[in-house]
Amino acid sequence: MWKRILIANRGEIARRIARTCRRLGIEYVAVHSGADAAAAHLGGAVETVCLGPGPAGDSYLRIDKLVEAALRTNCEAVHPGYGFLSENSGFATAVERAGLVFIGPAPETIAMLGDKARAKALMRAAGVPVVPGTDEASDDPGQIEAQVRAIDLPVLLKPSAGGGGKGMQVITRHEGLAGAIESAIRVARSSFGDGRMIVERYIDQPRHIEVQIFGDGRGGAVHLFERECSLQRRHQKVVEEAPAPDLPAEARQRLLEAALQGARSLNYRNAGTFEFIVGRDLQCYFLEVNTRLQVEHPVTEAVTGLDLVEWQLRVAAGEPLPLAQSAIACLGHAIEARVYAEDPAQDFRPSPGTVARARWPAGLRVDTALDASGEVPPFYDPMVAKIIAHAGDRQAALDALRAGLDDTVLLGVAANVGYLSRVLDDPAVRSGHVHTRYLDERKDLLAPRSREAAVAVGAALHFPVIAEQGSPWTRGAGQGAMDRHCLDAGASLGRVHFELDQEPVAAGFAAADGQGVDVAAAGKVSRVVRDASGLRGRADGRGWEACPSESGWHVQVGGDHYTVHPRRIRELDGADADRLATAPMSGVVAALSVRPGDRVQPGDTLAIIEAMKMEHAITAHQAGTVRALRHARGESVREGDLIVEVDYDAAP
Ligand code: ADP
Ligand code: ADP
Ligand code: MG
Repeated sequence: MWKRILIANRGEIARRIARTCRRLGIEYVAVHSGADAAAAHLGGAVETVCLGPGPAGDSYLRIDKLVEAALRTNCEAVHPGYGFLSENSGFATAVERAGLVFIGPAPETIAMLGDKARAKALMRAAGVPVVPGTDEASDDPGQIEAQVRAIDLPVLLKPSAGGGGKGMQVITRHEGLAGAIESAIRVARSSFGDGRMIVERYIDQPRHIEVQIFGDGRGGAVHLFERECSLQRRHQKVVEEAPAPDLPAEARQRLLEAALQGARSLNYRNAGTFEFIVGRDLQCYFLEVNTRLQVEHPVTEAVTGLDLVEWQLRVAAGEPLPLAQSAIACLGHAIEARVYAEDPAQDFRPSPGTVARARWPAGLRVDTALDASGEVPPFYDPMVAKIIAHAGDRQAALDALRAGLDDTVLLGVAANVGYLSRVLDDPAVRSGHVHTRYLDERKDLLAPRSREAAVAVGAALHFPVIAEQGSPWTRGAGQGAMDRHCLDAGASLGRVHFELDQEPVAAGFAAADGQGVDVAAAGKVSRVVRDASGLRGRADGRGWEACPSESGWHVQVGGDHYTVHPRRIRELDGADADRLATAPMSGVVAALSVRPGDRVQPGDTLAIIEAMKMEHAITAHQAGTVRALRHARGESVREGDLIVEVDYDAAP
């Protein structure tokens, strides 16, 4: 076995590989970019090497630097992880030329299979069913157009060198075809440096099912069963599971056999995944081979009880495949959810930044890039963790994963935790009857359902400050029963104005006791319960947690991330500011001289603020009608806080 290897990757997969190295007593060298100098994946390494600045092209994709680092630190082999250079035959070749071992397939295999058109031709020759379409990639628009017209619509244009679901285009009609082809070629060129496209029949509502295989490089291969990856967003996997639910035994056997046949025909070496789509008629079509460890390998590890990284290391070290096919079994059911720092409500915009607090569910496998806190650099894929549940059957695994998401906290960056929860709650997902476009069609799952609760939590976060300073809240216990039904009475206990995700909101306090506060907003009263820290609890049946940010709070409610900022009157626009009476300095509201609905004349006292034993009157500067009182007597206010809202009469 190896004494020392270099892990040519970052984030959760670098840590995943390191874990197996530690267990097997293999030393590892970790690499990093300038943006990852303090990243968790450097932990436990015998040596760390900085490859260059943040952008991947200057660091994790620098073949020369990686090979040099491996040689200089006396590594014997290089594990590429997934993404980055893992499917780059040039990297595998450079590693081998330097006298090191590449932990993966032979460079020629990677090159052959990296071209989807060639891969399909090879598989067709090996007797594996492939999606109908061209076997030869082209970047000649005229030729592609002829190919599209030769098969039935809809048709899929796919970059031959593509990956990660990027750059595919569905053609549903012949109008505008030439333009669509030109644009597809352009996108492929800019994303993959190769504009060649393949043309395939677009299979309607297929499932994506893939087979994990291991080859010994001499024609021997075993499968480690299949994974269902039909829950995708724009052709990228979101939730994966093993085994595939409700797959007839006969269809499963066909898939496993096809993958083995393909692997043997290629003398495939090390780990590989044969991806298929399965039509509603259970027809199976080969898509591509991923010549690396997959993101979703943990579900296979869970059901087989095997360590796939250990297998990779052993096979690369020249050992035979660790187990014969008959010794590999699939037990129970496993499901994985990918946690991304991205905002599902904003078209999944990546949300790089500092994770101020992360907490992961106990009792489940969590493969993560960061533990309690850390950075999500803007340069790389924003996946921060994978949460994997394994149980006796699918329903139990779903329940465990769903509960695990409730126990997942990520504060400081937007994340898809709430979205994943909604996905897992969906009846079609629970029944296992989905296809690869299902999530794209379910736009309704994108929007958080926790906004009302978040308003209540945001308000409650402003509450302790007030309570500590001896305001009426601490005396408010017991009077909530009546207030609960009466917003005005609730508001009489005080109102707060703040910004939730930059949107101004207002809420009133209806009651308070030792456990929490009743918050009235938009005609509804929500009870916000909090623990002793005041920064965690439940609201409207949802869990919430908060931590201070630079100028407010990061809040997670029901898995959705929000920012809360106190709203300073100075930030209001001029038109608004006109009808507001604000505190001239920080202090305590000593008296309120008016009530909502009162008429006031210029110079009338509205409220009195006491500060440093001095009283300061807030007066009306025009005639008008009092609209609302924003603070109660005895409450602490800060300079600029809104005290009384007045609708001034229009100027004559
Ligand atoms: P899997 O089948 O393991 O889910 P994906 O195809 O989704 O694999 O890709 C795995 C990782 O590699 C993802 O982080 C993805 O963004 C990245 N990736 C894959 N192929 C490419 C590529 N050609 N260019 C850039 N990133 C890629
Ligand atoms: P990538 O290299 O980007 O992973 P794949 O060929 O593996 O590309 O396809 C990714 C996803 O795109 C599949 O999981 C499936 O959802 C969809 N897809 C690919 N080819 C087809 C097809 N011919 N018909 C329908 N969907 C397809
Ligand atoms: Mg794929």
